[in-house]
Amino acid sequence: SRKLKISPTFESMNLKDDLLRGIYSYGFEAPSAIQSRAISQIISGKDVIAQAQSGTGKTATFTIGALQAIQLKRKDLQALVLSPTRELASQICQVVCNLGDYMNVKAFAITGGKTLKDDIKKIQSNGCHVVSGTPGRVLDMIKRQILQTRNVSMLILDEADELLSETLGFKQQIYDIFTKLPKACQVVVVSATMSKDILEITKKFMSQPVKILVKKDEISLEGIKQYFVDVDKEEWKFDTLCDLYDSLTITQGVIFCNTKKKVEWLAQKMSQSNFAVVAMHGDMKQEDRDKVMNDFRTGHSRVLISTDVWARGIDVQQVSLVINYDLPEIMENYIHRIGRSGRFGRKGTAINFITTTDVSKLKQIEKYYCIRIKAMPASLSDL
Ligand code: ADP
Ligand code: MG
Repeated sequence: SRKLKISPTFESMNLKDDLLRGIYSYGFEAPSAIQSRAISQIISGKDVIAQAQSGTGKTATFTIGALQAIQLKRKDLQALVLSPTRELASQICQVVCNLGDYMNVKAFAITGGKTLKDDIKKIQSNGCHVVSGTPGRVLDMIKRQILQTRNVSMLILDEADELLSETLGFKQQIYDIFTKLPKACQVVVVSATMSKDILEITKKFMSQPVKILVKKDEISLEGIKQYFVDVDKEEWKFDTLCDLYDSLTITQGVIFCNTKKKVEWLAQKMSQSNFAVVAMHGDMKQEDRDKVMNDFRTGHSRVLISTDVWARGIDVQQVSLVINYDLPEIMENYIHRIGRSGRFGRKGTAINFITTTDVSKLKQIEKYYCIRIKAMPASLSDL
């Protein structure tokens, strides 16, 4: 692969002054590895595939790239960011607003589940430079001609491998959106995980992309300690979780189950046993999802039970413990789930509950990512 230029500082990236100011006032001092390598490539206008471990600053990577490219004199949509969940799309929009604070950038979160009446009014009267949204809602807004796509110069797919996966149903929507964009539109795809199949798919809508990839044995973060607890049977998971509850509340923790039903069941059972928890899944009303997110982000609630809707992209720096109550069904989501802890170099711990039938699944994960998941030490203070 080609040797890429590395920008050691934000100053060396030739960014607009008001963007640089936004970066520093947001609290960033120096770029992370992926930012050092990918931002200048994005700015150069090339298509870019940017893979980097969870929590290493991929959002700011594409956000800074997009903000640098935007012409603020104009009022039209120029950068479109797509991601798989409403919460993630909103979080990205917030980062765009924060980094673009001194640029007077107009950014909107266009996601399902909420009324966009006020947003639509604002877009139509004041314009809109950046949209961060979920594919279905964005496509809908394009079809209704509320979003004008003729001057979109950058399309960004965050969690690209999930957006393009065969199983989740976003792929066709992405293609449909893509056909509405100008032919010369630059494409940037981003994720911590990137399979051969996905790289193959990107050939359909990317031209000679710069590829920044991570080897399979380097995807897992060293700062996240990974353990398993042999619970033997499903019935013993609950007591094990109760034993771990104090560790979960030291900072904040996330517990993953594989179905919405199980999330609800577990949340109820925990509450009945007087353990404070909150729960979030995709069948909840958006206002309830928003409340849970808000309480968790502000630290009002410390223990969250969720499905894979929470597996990707969500950034809550206080999360230091992740429990896989169920092992994930999608191999990639193992890395994404445990990556909710250990954000930007912080320490994290992941604990996997293993029944007899899970043993081979765990082996598979270990083999795939070239990691060793050890038995949890008897004393939790050793975590
Ligand atoms: P990723 O998308 O790679 O998983 P995020 O973009 O969500 O990671 O960033 C993880 C955390 O790191 C966020 O809280 C973000 O504010 C922080 N961060 C990103 N870049 C920097 C930087 N250059 N300096 C300090 N913190 C940063
Ligand atoms: Mg991310």
